[in-house]
Amino acid sequence: MSFDPVLRLTDVSRVHGDGPRAVRALHGVSLEVAAGELIAVMGPSGSGKSTLLNLAGGLDLPTSGTVTVEGVPLPTLTARDLAALRRRRVGYVFQDLNLIPSLTALENVTLPRELDGVAFGKARQEALEVLAEVGLGEVADRFPDDISGGQRQRVAIARALVGGRRLILADEPTGALDTPTGDEILQLLRTRCDAGAAVLLVTHEPRYAAWADRVVFLRDGEVADSTVPLESAR
Ligand code: ADP
Ligand code: MG
Repeated sequence: MSFDPVLRLTDVSRVHGDGPRAVRALHGVSLEVAAGELIAVMGPSGSGKSTLLNLAGGLDLPTSGTVTVEGVPLPTLTARDLAALRRRRVGYVFQDLNLIPSLTALENVTLPRELDGVAFGKARQEALEVLAEVGLGEVADRFPDDISGGQRQRVAIARALVGGRRLILADEPTGALDTPTGDEILQLLRTRCDAGAAVLLVTHEPRYAAWADRVVFLRDGEVADSTVPLESAR
């Protein structure tokens, strides 16, 4: 039994480029997300929210500081082990979804498990279960272009949740959704969280941040404030 937080960032900075053109995307950020915790990240455009998520998921490496996922410092991993950790432990909901248009909803959700060596039948079963959980059992065999925007968003969520990943990173997963659909997405993330996952959610909407256990505000790459929502939406 380990009491490490699922995600720990210690004094993390990320500078893009160098010399006079250097952009300080993130500066001296420390943050822990424990199992069962939903942390909302807010802040103006360009404040470093996506950079923070990319570093948390090992898609990008910090210029200084350390990122640890379930007690494992990411820079100690080989590229291959880092890729495996990303597939097995980290579910990423990209801002632009990144669904594969030539694959059905079911195939999109099955793929990450197959890539991870899970036998096809089992991967398919897991994908069907998580699609049912997000309310998409009916459209499992449809292609991304043939379902609604809200349904596509839920396919992307299902793909991030499949296989019981412990760290869910979601970059504005409610962007461009109407309020009821956005609420459903938040409910799904909250349920996973309550089942033991750690969730880092970037959002512009105070109404969604209210579902979080803690809200972290970024400004110019630094944590400007960290607060517990007064009125929980739960
Ligand atoms: P947010 O998601 O809050 O809008 P980002 O993390 O995308 O902010 O960006 C933070 C800052 O880092 C911005 O000034 C952005 O222009 C800069 N930035 C992000 N990625 C890169 C990159 N690959 N190269 C150069 N600058 C970048
Ligand atoms: Mg962003």
